Amino acid sequence: MTTANLDGRHAVITGGGRGIGSAIARALAEQGAKITLMGRTRSTLEDEAVLLRALSEVHCEAVDVADPAAVEAAFANAAIALGPVAILVNNAGQAASAPFTKTDLALWNRMLAVNLTGTYLGIRAALPGMLDLGWGRIVNIASTASLKGYAYVSAYCAAKHAVLGLTRSLALELAKKPVTVNAVCPGYTETDIVRDTLANIQAKTGRTAAEAEAELVKHNPQGRLVQPAEVANAVLWLCQPGSEAVTGQAIAVAGGETM
Ligand code: NDP
Repeated sequence: MTTANLDGRHAVITGGGRGIGSAIARALAEQGAKITLMGRTRSTLEDEAVLLRALSEVHCEAVDVADPAAVEAAFANAAIALGPVAILVNNAGQAASAPFTKTDLALWNRMLAVNLTGTYLGIRAALPGMLDLGWGRIVNIASTASLKGYAYVSAYCAAKHAVLGLTRSLALELAKKPVTVNAVCPGYTETDIVRDTLANIQAKTGRTAAEAEAELVKHNPQGRLVQPAEVANAVLWLCQPGSEAVTGQAIAVAGGETM
């Protein structure tokens, strides 16, 4: 157990059970934050919690971030368990792909509900407590798809652009308060989302695994997939002392893909 830079502050990470969220939870716990992991699959959260408890206190809430009543209840439970939420990382997300002509209303609504409304609901639940506490950090895991278009993911891209609009507006609204609001924008990062995308490319185009990966990494000037820990480092920096002047930003962690 460490009491380093984040010194017992309570951090909620949505989608914290695996992928980028799991790396963020670990990075914050290593700096002394108490951690609430949220996600739909309780067993994934509990498995991750077992690992993190070597570092800090950990609480789990099984919740769909797109369900308003469930999100309210989950944040209330988390605050009872570990105290007021000081750090919120809105990381839960899904990236369904389809050509626009096959993007039906159900897919469109799902992308907006999970990626955008889920972010709004998390902030709505956590912000009053941060203002009472007199300190807060909101980090929205957006995407390079918040900064540029990609073919065949128009619903995801629209939702992620909107997350950045929300981030910028709220940062301005809170500029005189001790709460910063930023977006971290990963490029293609080695997690289940990318593994699913690679499988999809192989199934639809008949390419090999190596050819499918080459198709994705060609976007990144460094010629590789980003690692979850690299995204976590950017989030950690935004939460640590010394980053108070950074708000309303979109920080790309993408090997120079956007600039
Ligand atoms: P993963 O698929 O590995 O993890 C997604 C996480 O979100 C899981 O923990 C999942 O848990 C959770 N989740 C999904 N839907 C919901 C929901 N409705 N309610 C609650 N939790 C949910 O993806 P990544 O780690 O790669 O993605 C994390 C974030 O990073 C996402 O916002 C994604 O858009 C973004 N991103 C990822 C990139 C990449 O290349 N990997 C690139 C750019 C951005 P469970 O299924 O148990 O609910």
